[in-house]
Amino acid sequence: MLTSEVENYPGFPEPIMGPDLMTLMRKQAERFGVEFIPGEATGADFAGRPLKVRVNKTIYEADAVIAATGASSRWLGLKSEQRLRGKGVSSCATCDGYFFKNKAVVVVGGGDTAVEDAIFLSKIARSVTVIHRRDELRAAKLVQERAFKIENIKFLWSSVVEEILGGEQVEGVKVKDLKTGRLNEYRCEAVFIAIGHTPNTEIFRGQLELDDAGYIKTRDRTRTSREGVFAAGDVTDRVYRQAVTAAGSGCQAAMDAIRYLESAEVR
Ligand code: NAP
Repeated sequence: MLTSEVENYPGFPEPIMGPDLMTLMRKQAERFGVEFIPGEATGADFAGRPLKVRVNKTIYEADAVIAATGASSRWLGLKSEQRLRGKGVSSCATCDGYFFKNKAVVVVGGGDTAVEDAIFLSKIARSVTVIHRRDELRAAKLVQERAFKIENIKFLWSSVVEEILGGEQVEGVKVKDLKTGRLNEYRCEAVFIAIGHTPNTEIFRGQLELDDAGYIKTRDRTRTSREGVFAAGDVTDRVYRQAVTAAGSGCQAAMDAIRYLESAEVR
């Protein structure tokens, strides 16, 4: 979870810190006998039986595996972006937008996420500036048209953010106009980076069928191209990407995996 406060998880009328929510989920799972093994999965071998997942030098064997390795937001790669993350720099408008009520905010990107984020933020923030590196958007036409009609959204075309300004909190952005080469500074209190996500599927390459963008392909809800391997959450979802949708899909994958284990398929 990238943002530290979660605003929209059902059952929590007050924002909850992401790590606290995860601790609660973990405690609940432990009550049902789940064993947690800390470590980073470094490889997978689903060619034969049992299925194998490698964590450094240890190989874990299983009759069923649920892949839920998530997706990582893409970042611009600026030092200032790294330094101000959580201090006005965010990759999740739906999670963090409400902290910037009546403020000036910036969205970076030109795809569906950026434009939908801008529309969402326009209802909360005083003004929204979308900074896009080209002079046309990648987002769906209908979404674009909706955004163009909203008065407090403006677009800076053919422009890239060179630096995010601010000491303890975001105070503005330094932007380069790619057509003129000119540098300008704009004041804002938040910068939402919406330049896409990369699914964390490196370890599944060659093992599971992935789509063009690298997300795990599923059929019959959570089944992957390999018998006994299921996928859940952002690693298979490029659209919703919310904690609650990931949790719901995790539940579906767990139920599918249990049914699979109880069926004749593994006997
Ligand atoms: P995306 O379509 O890959 O768009 C990323 C945007 O960020 C592009 O406009 C790209 O510019 C820009 N970009 C990429 N790297 C950049 C960089 N280093 N610096 C500046 N700009 C950069 O990503 P997305 O908007 O997250 O959408 C991902 C997928 O989810 C898409 O298939 C989208 O249709 C789908 N989606 C659907 C919905 C929906 O149906 N409601 C909502 C959100 C997302 P260029 O245009 O120049 O490449």
